[in-house]
Amino acid sequence: MKLLNDLKDGKITSRAATEACLAREEALDSSLHSFLHVDRSAPERAGSVDNSSKPLAGLPIAVKDVLMVEGMPATCGSKILEGFMPPFTATAVQKLIDAGAIVIGKTNTDEFAMGSSTENSAYGVTHNPWNLKRVPGGSSGGSAAAVAAGLVPAALGTDTGGSIRQPASFCGVSGIKPTYGRVSRYGLAAYGSSLDSVGVLGRSVDDIVPIFEQMIGKDPLDATTVDPPAGRGDRPVAPTLNGTKIGVPAEYFVKGMQAEVEGRVREAIGMLEKLGAQIIPINLPHTEYALPVYYILAPAEASANLARYDGIRYTPRESDASLQDVYRQTRGKRFGAEVERRIMLGTYALSAGYYDAYYGKAQKVRTLIRRDFEEAFGVVDAIAAPIAPTTAFEIGSHGDDPLSMYLEDIFTLPANLAGVPGLALPVGFDGDQMPIGMQLMGARFSEEKLFAIGRAYQGVTDWHEMKPIL
Ligand code: GLN
Repeated sequence: MKLLNDLKDGKITSRAATEACLAREEALDSSLHSFLHVDRSAPERAGSVDNSSKPLAGLPIAVKDVLMVEGMPATCGSKILEGFMPPFTATAVQKLIDAGAIVIGKTNTDEFAMGSSTENSAYGVTHNPWNLKRVPGGSSGGSAAAVAAGLVPAALGTDTGGSIRQPASFCGVSGIKPTYGRVSRYGLAAYGSSLDSVGVLGRSVDDIVPIFEQMIGKDPLDATTVDPPAGRGDRPVAPTLNGTKIGVPAEYFVKGMQAEVEGRVREAIGMLEKLGAQIIPINLPHTEYALPVYYILAPAEASANLARYDGIRYTPRESDASLQDVYRQTRGKRFGAEVERRIMLGTYALSAGYYDAYYGKAQKVRTLIRRDFEEAFGVVDAIAAPIAPTTAFEIGSHGDDPLSMYLEDIFTLPANLAGVPGLALPVGFDGDQMPIGMQLMGARFSEEKLFAIGRAYQGVTDWHEMKPIL
């Protein structure tokens, strides 16, 4: 990462770099609304890490507002956590702070990360830096917009069903959704616990790798974390793609998708071939079930996870009449419509009499989806596919139609259901100058391989260097 090198070489101080981020935020974020909280004292903290030899010494970053950072409010984009100050810091963030990073603030998100556009944030929508009338994607839309607009060199996001890759694609930046379990979720407000992962967005693969490397690893505070089995996870970066097998799944090029998305993704795949990769048509036959399976499992898990927001344990509280009333009033008044919808869907799917028909069945189909990937990775090193069927859509265009919003997620959900990593790369623009992204999915713990392919691609293309005019 260039800024990291400049910081190490003493070409810029951390204080100056942090001040520059805050100045740009002040100049531009009234029109973007990518931040929910900015710490104006960050430059002072930055002052104390100058000249340190830590791996991320002095690097300013932003954090999606579903991750806890001590000393900063955590809203999760919800009115139910308005004014909540977490008493601790998420492990993923703490590791970056320990490595010298400076957290400058918290970025906007759909409420509890439920959404694909940031329109479900209770604190207002984030605008896409490439066209302020369009959404930045979601739910990590604040992080993607902040990186694309150059407010920060990198930002943390979370991905339960596409929330790092899709906003990266909509805003023309890179992003990694790690293998399930590779990055600790301690201190992340849980949404779908069997799907949630914490990752990074940055302009290029080079920008995200040093941060990813500091975040990973087993955490005693998150029992789902695992270290890669020996021999996996730290493969050397190959200088060329010679011998690399890249699968292209037929199921990810569907009728009705924007022609320019298919066009640019196929061109990018052509570039990988020019770099020496062998392109292999493959099938992931259960892809069409990913959407219904996800929209049963994720709400089911959410309905359990969100039970904790009861007006007792967190601020604020509506009503003091009776215990029932505290629950009813606080949840009724402070959850947004999408969160309520998910809680109802999830509660229904888990209820006696329906559990086997919905939740149980969805779990079985999830296994089939995971097996599709296992079989594919027996043959190919990585899978290249579009991230979303369209480029960023206009704010408000999905209006009151939640199903049409869910359909935006068809290409991102399978990786979460299978627990495999996905790397988002910008690969071009449509006729309206809106960015288009491609994802590389790999076997569990193959992030380093995905980074090597991504680096090779970004070595011969400059889509990741394009910046919106603001
Ligand atoms: N758009 C999907 C949803 O609403 C995914 C969100 C996410 O990855 N956090 O659930």
